[in-house]
Amino acid sequence: MSDQLYQSPISPGRSWYEDSCGERPTYPALDGDTSCDAVVVGGGFCGLSAALHLAEAGTKVVLIDAHRFGDGASGRNGGQMGSGQRAGAIELEKELGFERSKALWDMAEDAKTSLHNIASRYGFDFDYQLGQLTPMHKKSFEAEAREEVEVLSHRYGYKKIEYLDKDKMSSALGSEHYFGGTRDTGTGHIHPMKYLIGLAAAAAKAGAVLHENTAAFSTERNGKIFVKTARGTITADRCVLALNGHHNDLRPELASRVLPIQSFIGATAPLDHNTPVLPNHEAVDDSRFVVRYFRKSKDNRLLFGGREAYGKSTPGDIERAIRKQITEIYPDLSDVEMTHAWGGNVAITMPRMPYVRELETGLWTAGGFSGHGVMLSNYTGRMIAEQFLGKSDQIKLLKDLKTPQFPGGSLFRNPLKLLALTWYAMLDRI
Ligand SMILES: Cc1cc2nc3c(=O)[nH]c(=O)nc-3n(C[C@H](O)[C@H](O)[C@H](O)COP(=O)(O)OP(=O)(O)OC[C@H]3O[C@@H](n4cnc5c(N)ncnc54)[C@H](O)[C@@H]3O)c2cc1C
Repeated sequence: MSDQLYQSPISPGRSWYEDSCGERPTYPALDGDTSCDAVVVGGGFCGLSAALHLAEAGTKVVLIDAHRFGDGASGRNGGQMGSGQRAGAIELEKELGFERSKALWDMAEDAKTSLHNIASRYGFDFDYQLGQLTPMHKKSFEAEAREEVEVLSHRYGYKKIEYLDKDKMSSALGSEHYFGGTRDTGTGHIHPMKYLIGLAAAAAKAGAVLHENTAAFSTERNGKIFVKTARGTITADRCVLALNGHHNDLRPELASRVLPIQSFIGATAPLDHNTPVLPNHEAVDDSRFVVRYFRKSKDNRLLFGGREAYGKSTPGDIERAIRKQITEIYPDLSDVEMTHAWGGNVAITMPRMPYVRELETGLWTAGGFSGHGVMLSNYTGRMIAEQFLGKSDQIKLLKDLKTPQFPGGSLFRNPLKLLALTWYAMLDRI
């Protein structure tokens, strides 16, 4: 494992992304009272994107994060963009009807375009690589994968997805472990920390005032909105709380609806260039409930995410568990050198769709992207900014989704979470 130079105080282990992102700029903590048109709390993809789009329109915006930008999920995730929403189109259509489900699909397509456009507008690279495979871990799931291809290509007009039988999937993966599944050539995967750094620099360039190491302790409304921090109060007309799975005790409404669960990733040393593993550098997310997600970095490392344990973890614990999962799929990698192992909070909701609300007039919150926030948290920040600016009300599509509280509310949800996740992990193995 590499030297522990800087580690996120809110997530275990030092990520490979931190060692491969180049310079990670720092932003000063807030020191003194200030006022602005809009204050954003949370410097992940969602908050930074909101700040960028507000600042581009000439709004005076201040953004604060309790830690360093990207120390939450945004700088430490699997980097897979995917397509559509976390809940599948077929499932959404059953609940919401075709029109709303199609609008949510189209929103996700806009999110892909927006992610690329920001990077080209501000000229930063984020190691984009094309392609996504979703192999089935049970033969009985193949029919669902076939149906998904059928529905998406015919009813949703999405032609970039195809069904791969077991043989073709095995060649694409370099492993016999799975059955058939889908290949999506309309999406890809990114280096999330590089994207995060580029996004923060873009927001600063557009005029947003950015502060790290500045936690919000409370939000109060008295005509204006007051966000209190240790060394100053920010007074604003509008506010975005983009906290995702961290500190959501700031607002009790979030704690009962957005639940943090930990997910873990291990990085190997660069694999041999002749390795059969993922010859086309596509990303993979499998059909398990406790999803295994993996891909190769541009320098040929296997970045493998998964693990089924829920509690405190050291990098050593993470490495052991991830190595076991890698070996199940790629037995030849049983002794592979691992250089990094880390984790982070994935924020989930009951319906696995984000929780987006206007909690009070002008005070919005967004979080709970349920492992599907690389492009969608970014785009949600933009949609909230556009609502503030009176440019578009596309955010209504997410705001109108129902998000029930977790059973047990904020008190008993953690023991119940452990029970439920252990149960689902067991079902994955049957
Ligand atoms: C290990 C892992 C793997 C993942 N893999 C994928 C993937 O492959 N594909 C995908 O689409 N999604 C994935 N995700 C999910 C994705 O990373 C998130 O959905 C997305 O980054 C959420 O962005 P965000 O801005 O909403 O939240 P975050 O990036 O978590 O940012 C929230 C920020 O708010 C700050 N904050 C919280 N409270 C306060 C406060 N009181 N005051 C000031 N600041 C505060 C935190 O410090 C944090 O920086 C993964 C997540 C993890 C952890």
